Amino acid sequence: MAQIEIDYERCKGCGKCVHSCNYGVLEILDDIIVIASPGKCAICMKCMDVCPLNPPAIKIIGERTGASCTMHKKG
Ligand code: SF4
Ligand code: SF4
Repeated sequence: MAQIEIDYERCKGCGKCVHSCNYGVLEILDDIIVIASPGKCAICMKCMDVCPLNPPAIKIIGERTGASCTMHKKG
């Protein structure tokens, strides 16, 4: 299952990630982002895309469907 991580030291609480999520994973409470329903995350990466910080203060860790392994190149 995917895991969402928020870097609270850098997060500005702008709420953009919350509004970008179509799955109701994130909520904002008093300018603090809460990962309310991590199990609903579809790993769409939208929240990371909309985060104004670089790198984003929100991160998805874990399984990604369709990810390919690049470790097995010959050489
Ligand atoms: S990756 Fe997509 S589904 Fe998961 S929290 Fe971010 S916007 Fe929501
Ligand atoms: S978009 Fe980035 S800075 Fe804004 S609330 Fe989400 S994680 Fe924090």
